[in-house]
Amino acid sequence: MGKIQRRKFAKAAVGGIAATAAVTTVATPAISQGRQEWRMVTSWPKMFPGGGTAAERFAKNISEVTGGRLTIKVFAAGELVPAFEAFDAVQRGTADCMHSTPYYWQNKAKILSLYTTVPFGMTNNESVAWLRYGGGQALWDEAYAQFGLKGFHAGSTSVQMAGWFNKEIKSVDDVKGLKMRIPGLGGEALRKLGATIVNLPVGEIFGALQSGAIDATEWVGPWQDLAAGFYKVTKYYYWPGMHEPATLNEITVNKAKYESLPKDIQQIFAWACGDEHSQLTAENDANNAGALEVLIKQHNVQLKKLPDDFVKAYGAAWGDVLKELRDSGDALTKKTLDSYYKFQREQMAWTRIGLQEYLNARLIGFRFT
Ligand code: CA
Repeated sequence: MGKIQRRKFAKAAVGGIAATAAVTTVATPAISQGRQEWRMVTSWPKMFPGGGTAAERFAKNISEVTGGRLTIKVFAAGELVPAFEAFDAVQRGTADCMHSTPYYWQNKAKILSLYTTVPFGMTNNESVAWLRYGGGQALWDEAYAQFGLKGFHAGSTSVQMAGWFNKEIKSVDDVKGLKMRIPGLGGEALRKLGATIVNLPVGEIFGALQSGAIDATEWVGPWQDLAAGFYKVTKYYYWPGMHEPATLNEITVNKAKYESLPKDIQQIFAWACGDEHSQLTAENDANNAGALEVLIKQHNVQLKKLPDDFVKAYGAAWGDVLKELRDSGDALTKKTLDSYYKFQREQMAWTRIGLQEYLNARLIGFRFT
C-alpha cells in the first residue's frame, strides 16, 4: 500500500461506517523497507478508561521498542468494525490484531469464555499461573488456531463488581424476570435463575439502562463503571462479582500475519503483551479504591451485598451450566475443563492457607501508625 492509499484509507476510517468499504479494497498491511503498519480493532470506545487507553498504550510501546519497524493504528469500536465483530475482522485479515476479551466470542465456541473468566473460578494470579505454567496457553492456542488466531492475555480487571440494579435484590426470587446485560458464562448461569440476559458493548449499555430496555447491568469495577456513568441512572451497586473473578483482556493476532513477522518482532510483541498485562491490572487495582469512594460520597451510590441465598442458588445454576458444557461432546472443551479445574483445585488448596488466610488475618491485625 503506497503513501497516498494509506492516507486515503486513514481518512475513510475516521468516518466509521465508510471505513468498511475502504478496507475491502485496501486489505494488505503496509510493508516498505522492513516497516509494517498493523491495524488493531477493539471492543471499546475511543480512549475509554481501561481497554481503550490500554490499546493505545500498547500501540505506542510497540512502535517505540521496535524503532518503528512495527507500528499499530488503533481503531475504536465502530471505526473499522463494530465492537463484537473484532474477532471476525482479525480472522478475515481486515485487521491484524484486536484488543478485546475472549468471552465475547462464546458464540464461536463456549469454551473460549474460560480465557476471560469463569464464575466462582480462578483469580487473576491463579489464571495467569494456569496459562503460563498449567498448560492453559497451549489449550488456548489450540482453540484459537481453529480460527487462524493466536491470543495473548493482556490485563485483568481482577475481581469485578456484581453490577448496577434499578431495584434491590433481597433474595434470589428478585432475579426472576430481570433484564440484565451480563456476558459470558456468568450470564448463562443467571439465565438459569429466570433472568433475561443480553450482551451489549460498553458504548451501548448506558442508553439501554436509561431507556429501561434493561433493568440491570454489570460492567467492570468502580473505576471503569464510574467512567461509564451508570450511577446517573441507577443507584444500587452490588458486590461481590462472583460471576467474573478475574476477567482477562486479550491482545489477539491473526496467526499467519504474526508468524510472518521477523522473529525478534514476534518476541517483542509477546513480551509487550505480558507487560501490558501487568500495566492494565495495576491500573485497575490502583484506580478502583478511589473511584468507589467517589461513587459513594459524591454520587450517593448505595453499595449492597448480594444475599447469601442468591450466592448459593447462583452457584447451583453455574454448576448446571458447567455440566452442560462438559457434556457437550466436544473433546477440546472437556480437555480444557479438566485442565482448568485440576489447576483450580490445586490452587484453592494452597490459596486457602496462603492468600485467603492472610487476608483474613490482615483484617484482624492491621494497624496504621
Ligand atoms: Ca464484566
